[in-house]
Amino acid sequence: MPELPEVETIVRELCACHLVGTQIKEALVFWDRTIATPSPKEFCDSIGGQTILNISRRGKFIAFTLSNYTLIVHLRMTGKFFLSKKKLVSALHERVHLHLTNGWYLHYSDQRKFGKWYLVSNPEATFDKLGLEPFSNKFTLKAFQKVISRGTSQIKPFLLNQRNVAGLGNIYVDEALWESKIAPTRKASSLSLVEIKTLHKAIKHVLKQGIAHMGTSLGTTHANYFSVSGRRGFHQNQLMVFRRDGFPCPRCNTTIIKIKLAQRGTHLCPNCQK
Ligand SMILES: [Zn+2]
Repeated sequence: MPELPEVETIVRELCACHLVGTQIKEALVFWDRTIATPSPKEFCDSIGGQTILNISRRGKFIAFTLSNYTLIVHLRMTGKFFLSKKKLVSALHERVHLHLTNGWYLHYSDQRKFGKWYLVSNPEATFDKLGLEPFSNKFTLKAFQKVISRGTSQIKPFLLNQRNVAGLGNIYVDEALWESKIAPTRKASSLSLVEIKTLHKAIKHVLKQGIAHMGTSLGTTHANYFSVSGRRGFHQNQLMVFRRDGFPCPRCNTTIIKIKLAQRGTHLCPNCQK
């Protein structure tokens, strides 16, 4: 599933494709359930004629600010955008496309169909439910400490919960906890101030690295993460613990193990993560 660095890479590429300022001529929906709200018919009626004013990211959501609405997209497992100059006869797993007045088509494919599009007038109703945004100036050590001190769950599921910190998923949580030498099974509220400070720094560091490497693409099939231009990320070559079970810890040489925590495969060094 794309996490903050992958979604950020996609947003940056969409912006680089000069979509901002273009108008949407019409939308075609090939899979009704991709459109979470409103109805597919109302969606098509409303989005035609809208100009794309901005494209941004909040957590793992992509937000297209339009003249009168905001189009919010969550890619979930396998949602992908790609552009073409021509109308495609049959694109692989295509669920929606937007025909733009500059002649281009913005296609959305989604093999597993979990991704959702929301055309709304009040994006705040969605975004206000999200927790701290790691690269915003609201993600201060003090704010993070306050949120963590209330955490009754283990630190890994706590960080996966988008209401606490937005944008983190399985890969970057495992990496941040390894970098901070914190066991994923620790209760969130048990972390010392020094540990919270280290974790706060590590979260920003692993996400920044992920963005610098244009995201993580695991495996090679079409279901994996690709950017808008079809490029694979290369952060998978820089991972310290995620899917590295059986390999030596880069810090202490102890074999990395994989455990199941809150239904998620979790990778850690049993020696240096306390
Ligand atoms: Zn270690």
